[in-house]
Amino acid sequence: MHSTASDGRLAPADVVARAADAGVELMALTDHDTLAGVAAARMAAASHGIDCRAGIELSARWARGVVHIVGLDVDPEHDRLCEGVARQQRERRQRAERIGERLARIGFDDIAARVATASADGVPGRAHFARALVEAGHARDIPHAFDRYLQRGRPGYAPVDWASIEHVVGWIQAAGGIAVFAHPLRYRLSRGALRAAVQSFVAAGGSAIEVASGGGGRDELAAASALARRFGLEASIGSDFHDPDFPWIAIGRLPAVPGDLTPVWQRWREAA
Ligand code: AMP
Ligand code: MN
Repeated sequence: MHSTASDGRLAPADVVARAADAGVELMALTDHDTLAGVAAARMAAASHGIDCRAGIELSARWARGVVHIVGLDVDPEHDRLCEGVARQQRERRQRAERIGERLARIGFDDIAARVATASADGVPGRAHFARALVEAGHARDIPHAFDRYLQRGRPGYAPVDWASIEHVVGWIQAAGGIAVFAHPLRYRLSRGALRAAVQSFVAAGGSAIEVASGGGGRDELAAASALARRFGLEASIGSDFHDPDFPWIAIGRLPAVPGDLTPVWQRWREAA
């Protein structure tokens, strides 16, 4: 789940309160390229009596594209992870400047300032730009803002030099966490390319895959479970919650992990 530490709409403690209200017993805050919300989330979780693991969603370069790698149960103070995260954040901030400049060139000169305000509590992402474009009346909704301005090939697109899958998985493992290949059907990769991406992730030391995520459906559950079996990966599920105004991505309403797969949280149950 995401908070105002990256591109979510709720403060970390409010994400946790919402999860507790929804009956969630185990969660992870997984903001994009930052661990800044983790301490507040864990403190709130303790007061609600639920288990909140330190998490992060790292953007990673794969071939000419980007995949998201979630790190679960990481040590949020681990040096190598923190150095990697600092590098990703520099990239995010520089990209935000470039996107702001590009949008100004097509006449949207107020967007950079709106994004600076909206992302003041954390690291900027394209979702902040999408919201600012909608608020300023340049797009009718967030998907429209992405399609028209922020996707590759569009006037507000700026590339980012994310760290490689190998680096990102290495940081997570160094910090004692479990690396999870996030929402595998969202990259619009062919089946062969997706298998190759998961293969690279496994070769780097990755050990789990999301078999269900917010917005994913039966297709995702079937395809991702098949990848889990093929590569011997553990299974994770997550809502990818960002925004209470998107009720179709609700907290705690995901399909169960198929019975033949090992859930990532089994090790925590065993340890408890
Ligand atoms: P970033 O990591 O800053 O490049 O932003 C990526 C995030 O933007 C993803 O995690 C999604 O939440 C969101 N996103 C990407 N593409 C779209 C889209 N077409 N429509 C809506 N949200 C999108
Ligand atoms: Mn993601």
